[in-house]
Amino acid sequence: MAKIGFIGLGNMGGPMAANLLAGGHQVTVFDLSASAMQTLAKKGAALATSAAEVARDADFVISMLPAGKHVEALYLDPEDGLIGTLSSTTLVIDSSTIDAATAQKVAKALADKNIGFIDAPVSGGVGGAIAGTLTFIVGGSDAQFRASKPVLENMGKNIFHAGDVGAGQIAKICNNMLLSVLMAGTAEALQMAIDNGLDPSVMSDIMLQSSGRNWTLELYNPCPGVMANVPSSNQYQGGFMVDLMRKDLGLAMDTAVKSHSATPMGALAQSLFSMHSLQGNGKKDFSSIFEMFSKQQ
Ligand code: NAD
Repeated sequence: MAKIGFIGLGNMGGPMAANLLAGGHQVTVFDLSASAMQTLAKKGAALATSAAEVARDADFVISMLPAGKHVEALYLDPEDGLIGTLSSTTLVIDSSTIDAATAQKVAKALADKNIGFIDAPVSGGVGGAIAGTLTFIVGGSDAQFRASKPVLENMGKNIFHAGDVGAGQIAKICNNMLLSVLMAGTAEALQMAIDNGLDPSVMSDIMLQSSGRNWTLELYNPCPGVMANVPSSNQYQGGFMVDLMRKDLGLAMDTAVKSHSATPMGALAQSLFSMHSLQGNGKKDFSSIFEMFSKQQ
C-alpha cells in the first residue's frame, strides 16, 4: 500500500483516484472544486486543504489537470509551487495531456532538487477511467517506469514505456492526431455512401471487412443508429469532447512545427475540428464531426 497524493479530481481524475482507493492505497486528494473533493471523501479519501498538504510525505503525487499552464503553476509557481514542498522520496506522475516541453521543463526543475517526475498521459476516456482500463504512456527513466507501474496498474490495463520524459506526451498526441484523421475520414466515407443510397450499417460492415477497417468503425461508429452504446447514438453526449480533441490537435501542430514534421492530414483535421467547435459543437463528443458532412445536405 502506497501513500498517494492526487491533485485534479475532474472527469478523469475523480474515477482514477477512486480506483486507487479501491486498490487499497492511502489516498489524499485536492481539487479547487469542493464538490469533487466530497465525492472522493465518500469513497474513503483524506481531504487536503492545499496541494502542498497533498505533497507532504507522499510516496507518489499524481496530477490530472486541464493543460500545461496548470501543471507548470502547480509544481513551479515561485510562491506556492510544490517544488518547495516535495521531497526526494516522492515520485511525481503527471497524467494530464500537456505539451512535452512543459513536461520536460517541470521534470528538469524538479530533478535539480533530486525529485523524480514522469509524464504518464492516458488514453481510454472517462469510461476507461471509471473501469480502470486506461492505457498509460509513460515518459521517464527505466527505474521510474518500474516504480510507477504497480500504481498505474490500479487505474489502467496497458502501461507503456515510450521513452525519456516527454515521450509519453509525444506518443499520446501522435495517436490522437491519427484518431482525428480516422474519425473525419470515416465520417466522410459513410456520408458519401448514404448520399449514394447505401445503408450506413451495411457500408460499415463492408468497410470493417475491407481495407478501410479502423478503430472508429470497430468501436465508435460516428453515424447515428449504426452502433448501440456509443455517443453517436446518444446525440453525441458523453465520450471525448470536440474541444479536448481540438486541444490535442493544437499540441500536435505545435510539436510538428518544432520537429519540422510534415503533418498535412493532422493540419486539416485540426482545422475541421476547430470549425466544428466554432459552430457550437465544442462540448459534443468528437465523433459528431459526422454532422459536418451530413448536415450540409
Ligand atoms: P476536467 O476539467 O474534468 O478536470 C480537471 C480538474 O482539475 C477540475 O476538477 C479542476 O477543478 C481541477 N483543477 C484545475 N486546476 C487545479 C489546481 N491548480 N489545483 C487543483 N485542482 C485543479 O478535465 P478531465 O476531463 O478530467 O481531463 C484532465 C486531463 O486529462 C486533461 O489534460 C485532458 O486533456 C486529459 N484527458 C482527458 C480525457 C477525457 O476523455 N476527458 C481523456 C484522456 C485525457
